[in-house]
Amino acid sequence: MEHLIRLQDIDTKLKDINDLLGDLPSKVEDLNQQEKSIKDSLLDKKNRLKKLEVEIKKGEVNINLLNDKVNKLKDQLFLVTNNKQYDALMGEIDHLKSQRTNYENELIEYMEEKETTLVDIKTMSTDLDSLSENLVIRREKLQSVIAESAEEKLSLEKQRDESIKDIDQSTLSIYSRVIEARGGLAVVKLEGSACGGCGAHIPPQTVSEVRAKSNVHTCGVCGRFLHND
Ligand SMILES: [Zn+2]
Repeated sequence: MEHLIRLQDIDTKLKDINDLLGDLPSKVEDLNQQEKSIKDSLLDKKNRLKKLEVEIKKGEVNINLLNDKVNKLKDQLFLVTNNKQYDALMGEIDHLKSQRTNYENELIEYMEEKETTLVDIKTMSTDLDSLSENLVIRREKLQSVIAESAEEKLSLEKQRDESIKDIDQSTLSIYSRVIEARGGLAVVKLEGSACGGCGAHIPPQTVSEVRAKSNVHTCGVCGRFLHND
């Protein structure tokens, strides 16, 4: 029985290490994914900003060109000699002005989008900074935990190999089945006359034998090995 207690102790420690090692990499991987997705969106926003700046420049140039044209036509108004020419010029001026209004409306939209894009870029950059910082800390933590745990894990595995030599094959196979089925706990202490694993009542005869260490017993309900040490 003491061999089983020892084996359970080793397996519990190994389980703790494996849980720790299993959990950290996936957390770091989540952070990596988050970082990548923010980086991608940030790049999209920056590209959009460049495009908007080009469009704004273009719009400003177009508006200036139209202003020049309108001013030239206005100058010509003084030179006209009849109403027909005057109406034709005014018609053209109106047409250019409405074109200019379209460019101006477009320009306003681009400028508004530029402002929100700039705010987005700022927010995303801040998020990215804190996430990257977090990521560095987690990576360092992970590496140190892995380094510390690797040695301990190796030594526990050696101890385990030694320890199972003292246990007969059929007991070991029961132990393996139970520890697999019962969340990593196959050896439990008696709690009075109840199983320390599932709380089931243990018959008095079995309790006294477990206490006297005269026989190896398992709980009739959960199958765990019982001890009273
Ligand atoms: Zn039980």
